[in-house]
Amino acid sequence: MGLLEPPKEATAKIAIIGGTGVYDPKLFRDSTEIRVFTPYGATSPFLSVGYHRDKKVAFLPRHGRDHSLPPHRINYRANIYALKQLGVERIISISSVGSLREDLPPGDFAFPHQFIDRTKNRPDSFFEGGEVVHVSSADPFCPQTRKIFMEGARKLQIRAHGEVTYVCIEGPRFSTRAESKLFRQWGGDIIGMTLYPECILAREAEICYASISMITDYDVWAEKPVTAAEVSETMRKNVDSAKRLIFSTVEELPEERTCDCGMALSGAVL
Ligand SMILES: [Zn+2]
Repeated sequence: MGLLEPPKEATAKIAIIGGTGVYDPKLFRDSTEIRVFTPYGATSPFLSVGYHRDKKVAFLPRHGRDHSLPPHRINYRANIYALKQLGVERIISISSVGSLREDLPPGDFAFPHQFIDRTKNRPDSFFEGGEVVHVSSADPFCPQTRKIFMEGARKLQIRAHGEVTYVCIEGPRFSTRAESKLFRQWGGDIIGMTLYPECILAREAEICYASISMITDYDVWAEKPVTAAEVSETMRKNVDSAKRLIFSTVEELPEERTCDCGMALSGAVL
């Protein structure tokens, strides 16, 4: 069974969900804006489909192109549902995060393998009765895509860390110092506001999901005040590296999926 039958001819098998700083659909050649209607309402604006080399890629700037949608107001279900309707099998998700660890400095990239969910007010399942589904989230990220991120980062000489834990907070406020210190004790490595429920909805839709998390600053625990100029300089460099890593990942992802993400619902239905 599946959430939804993919279309006979996939519009795009790979999708990029762009985060802070990565909004520009011109990233891809011949990009066309499209609208997809979903039972959950409207997606983030400016969903488009374009090309990188010969591969068709869907691009969805999570916050809209002008960053008008805050993390807690994003319609995550509509976004993932729409990508599934396009035939997307893999999602590369981009986001900016804070660091909870001294040895994860601003400017480095992280590819999370675990998350801790601290959101409060976000619908986080497609299954709300009728069928009762408990999808596994023991290993919520696609191992095949993460491996390609690691190889790409090595080739492009981007300092990157695998196997990190992403703490997703509700926002829009940042953490208190006490919260930030607590998340460190819990084993959190990076902190952001957009990973959840995007990640787990993709799992329910049997789409591979992996995150390129760009570290922009140390979270408040570090008591290292940074200037807006420093943050924006780090972000500018991050976005440049992220684009190169996105392109190399799109090129390197093989046609066949070797992971189990496409069978996430087998055994999950009661
Ligand atoms: Zn996968």
